[in-house]
Amino acid sequence: MPPVPVNRPSLPTLAPVDWPAGTDRPAAATAAAIATAAELLASGRLVAIPTETVYGLAANALDPDAVALIFRAKGRPASNPLIVHVADTAMARRLAADWPEAAERATAACWPGPLTVVVKKAPEVPDIVTAGGPTVALRCPAFHVTRRLIEQAGCPLAAPSANRSEAVSPTTAQHVLEGLGNRVGLILDAGPCEHGLESTVLDCTVVPPRILRPGPLSADQLAAAIGGEVAPAAQPVNSGPDDQAGEPGRVGQEAEAASRSPGQRRRHYAPRTPLEVVPMATATERVADRLAAGERIGWLCLSPADAAVRRLAASPALLVVPMPEEPAAYGRMLYASLHALDHRELDRLVVDAVPDGSAWAAIADRLSRAQCTAGR
Ligand code: AMP
Ligand code: MG
Repeated sequence: MPPVPVNRPSLPTLAPVDWPAGTDRPAAATAAAIATAAELLASGRLVAIPTETVYGLAANALDPDAVALIFRAKGRPASNPLIVHVADTAMARRLAADWPEAAERATAACWPGPLTVVVKKAPEVPDIVTAGGPTVALRCPAFHVTRRLIEQAGCPLAAPSANRSEAVSPTTAQHVLEGLGNRVGLILDAGPCEHGLESTVLDCTVVPPRILRPGPLSADQLAAAIGGEVAPAAQPVNSGPDDQAGEPGRVGQEAEAASRSPGQRRRHYAPRTPLEVVPMATATERVADRLAAGERIGWLCLSPADAAVRRLAASPALLVVPMPEEPAAYGRMLYASLHALDHRELDRLVVDAVPDGSAWAAIADRLSRAQCTAGR
């Protein structure tokens, strides 16, 4: 049977970044490399940096020209605000016009760590960082290399994930190199990220505080840490690319959530290969069906030892990736698996739906965005 043609979208063409020729290979995050990176950052340049969540593309958050380079290097729409990384709570408070009780409690319990708090911004935070909005997103990373870098650079670092806009976030320096290449002068390599998923974003300007983006810290963990209610994240909005602000058809809570957290629009974090999330009960049938149609399939599978899965895995057109049954381990592997499978020129990725519940919310969220393949 002939293979089914798959409409593989091409990534948008990116404008060149005004960046002098430099290292285009990851550099091990030695003390000397960290010092060089800090100097580059302090002088207005871009550095790709490791953190415990994903690799970030960093610039001095107080230098609008440096921050503009981030948007150009990523092809990121100006409407999508950046997270500012700080060395400690004192640095965070200097960037905030207001420090609500929820921010105080959440950061006291969860910083340094994979928690971003959204608060009202201080005037010194450039508008380009917040996409013109009145709030700023702040995070104090736990990873020692990241904090040392911020301390040595002597400034807060604006750093979104170090990938092209809408692509899967990098969890290794190699992913950064593959996605951005020499669009960044220095890539600091400190091995695979501990969490492998972007931080939990908590809006502390509302009562109760609300999760804008689920992440490694779950709503239940945050509620326990804060000692009060935390509103869970709204479901992803089913709409177009994240540079199409205000498109029609978006209603209610979802639309409101997307306007409060612009990067949370539907199509985000997507591999190039079309991906579908399938209930575990029907995944075997779906994979068998697509194999029979002549497709080459990658399957992120939660039950690789099942007899039916093993029978299908005999097919040379099927690549079964066994996924962990524990959410933290699954999260650590997810993006790395998607990056690896994207190299295989497969026709389709099938992903077993993950269990319900707060501990799996971030993974369910990213999978749901990854499968938004409108037009594919
Ligand atoms: P990234 O750095 O690409 O992983 O994503 C950062 C995300 O944090 C954005 O896409 C928003 O969803 C969220 N964010 C950043 N700044 C703000 C802000 N001021 N208000 C609400 N959400 C924000
Ligand atoms: Mg990102």
